[in-house]
Amino acid sequence: MPERPTFIPIAKPRLGQEEEIAAARAISSGWVTQGPEVAAFEREFAAAVGASYACAVSNCTAALHLALLVLGVRPGDEVITVSHSFIATANSVRYCGARPVFVDIQPGTLNLDPTLVEAVITPRTTALLCVHQLGMPCDLRALFDIARRRSIPIVEDAACAVGSEILWNGAWEKIGKPHGDIACFSLHPRKLLTTGDGGMLTTTNARHDARFRLLRHHGMSIQDTLRHSAAQVMFEEYTDLGFNYRMSDIQAAVGREQLKRLPGNIERRRLLARRYGEQLRDISELGLPAEPDWARSNWQSYYVRLPDGCNQKQLMQDLLDRGIATRRGVMCAHREPAYPVDSWSCGTRREECGCTGRNCRRLAESQRAQETGIMLPLYDALNESDQDRVIGELRWSLARQFQT
Ligand SMILES: *Cc1c(COP(=O)(O)O)cnc(C)c1O
Repeated sequence: MPERPTFIPIAKPRLGQEEEIAAARAISSGWVTQGPEVAAFEREFAAAVGASYACAVSNCTAALHLALLVLGVRPGDEVITVSHSFIATANSVRYCGARPVFVDIQPGTLNLDPTLVEAVITPRTTALLCVHQLGMPCDLRALFDIARRRSIPIVEDAACAVGSEILWNGAWEKIGKPHGDIACFSLHPRKLLTTGDGGMLTTTNARHDARFRLLRHHGMSIQDTLRHSAAQVMFEEYTDLGFNYRMSDIQAAVGREQLKRLPGNIERRRLLARRYGEQLRDISELGLPAEPDWARSNWQSYYVRLPDGCNQKQLMQDLLDRGIATRRGVMCAHREPAYPVDSWSCGTRREECGCTGRNCRRLAESQRAQETGIMLPLYDALNESDQDRVIGELRWSLARQFQT
């Protein structure tokens, strides 16, 4: 019997002995919750992305929630964002009691289309929440110009974009400096750098950073580490309605090792992404991702647009039957049951737009991207022969759909 080919997953975190040793170091230190490892990880992360301040939290969803709260998003407010993203993006707006106002994306980059923003700004707009989808930087320059002119702060959902770069005033800078007001990263295993779960907020604003630190720890005025080492009895005060959004020291110790792997991880992904591009180029109906000349992706995911008329699910099933995992295009929050039509807006009155939950004419590109594309396996440990297998099976399945 022929040997079953090995299974190729969609992604694979790179965790090794260094991470095991680091986690053990935190455990044997006796201090396992937010403490010295978190503080060191924050310093190292800030240096890696070029930020003045970095604040670690329990996940990116918590980071997005804190970012919007600190910028003053309150019930009844509106936040301009995309529906075409992981659901946490839009959820964070609703946690603040605000309404997400969804704008459509550009089909080439899957990122928010800046030309659609001005038209949906209202007196209630309190923030612009843009996403660097799948690691591809969004058009921050265009968004920045609009937001500054209209005095609207920008939060960057950089969940996928650790290590991605943008050309800013003539120099390449890391996403997360940040270029807006606050950037939020995810350290979930599906992303390039993982602590199991985790998140990071970066900013150049010292007051924002102080607020993140307060709110992630129940609004408590004194940090545990301080009280623990104090020679005098200290009573804390709870100045704000805070949250438990802490990262543990075990996670942070792992994160510090992951940070060391990041440059190599990205270099490898860039090589594999280039290889996909070169080897799939001749399938003319296939839409391949391309970096604008001002952007460098970290290639968290490799999204291809399928030919017109291609059965997305059948193609994914073909590949799965041959031991290759894929994922469909990024979801659209407005099409999910958790998003009844009165919980969001597409920037126009419902009677004018006539959209139902699942179909909104103004979000046509978002919907099309979800329905007509797939993500191919991409991770640093993917070897060339496995990548060739993905390419070969993709060709075979496409041929099967279109030549019979
Ligand atoms: C993964 C992801 C999130 C959520 O990150 P968590 O750390 O899992 O909370 C938010 N936004 C985008 C765009 C993501 O890809």
